[in-house]
Amino acid sequence: MENSVVEVINPKGNGRFVLVCEHASKFIPDKFNNLGLSVKARESHVAWDPGAFDVAVGLSKILDAPLVTSGISRLIYDCNRPPTAKSSIPERSETFNIKGNTDLNKDEVSERAEKYYFPFRNALIECLGLHSRRVKSSILVTIHTFTPVFHGRERKVDLGIVHDSDNRMADGMLNALAGSSMNIERNQPYGPRDGVTHTLKEHGNRRGIASVMIEIKNDLVVTLEDQLEISQVLASALNLAAENLNNRAD
Ligand SMILES: [Zn+2]
Repeated sequence: MENSVVEVINPKGNGRFVLVCEHASKFIPDKFNNLGLSVKARESHVAWDPGAFDVAVGLSKILDAPLVTSGISRLIYDCNRPPTAKSSIPERSETFNIKGNTDLNKDEVSERAEKYYFPFRNALIECLGLHSRRVKSSILVTIHTFTPVFHGRERKVDLGIVHDSDNRMADGMLNALAGSSMNIERNQPYGPRDGVTHTLKEHGNRRGIASVMIEIKNDLVVTLEDQLEISQVLASALNLAAENLNNRAD
């Protein structure tokens, strides 16, 4: 069985935001023999961002935003990494060795990028291009989740607001969320130093549009109720941050 490599949900959305979910899926095509991984590894956060897709769909509905999602596990190809990065096809992830990713030859590496990265990248470029014809100034938002416990250590942060060199949306969101009961931090648990801002740089900075990455602790978005609630909180913060962006530009 093959999944589609990339899916665009609500492609004609007229809201101001374009949403991206690079780690939406844990799907591993049959020919990779599960990359030699146990079911536990394939179901875990190393293969995907649990809950991220559902929150992204919620946001897409609330904000009337197009949503570009990958249909393939990040262990096959991490669409938030350029083909030049070794981490685009990880040989190790947290405590798991990814057997099916070790000792790949040059052709195997470029085939992964051709089949899984470039279709995703091209779909996002097309989506942003069409969006910019309908909407005056698009804003790019990527949605991720992270594991509450990493290498045996519990993480204190609940929600990370991540940015690269363009911090406008991140600043606006941090202001908007200042009264929240969640522990919200800038560039945590990952930031530009970890190479996680590839999509923001490639499709935000290069196009000259504002961008922000959202990282949610995955145990906060397990149930449908939780997913809907956090989608609403994030949508309000995104809208407020976008309004401030307008005021600044004027
Ligand atoms: Zn992610």
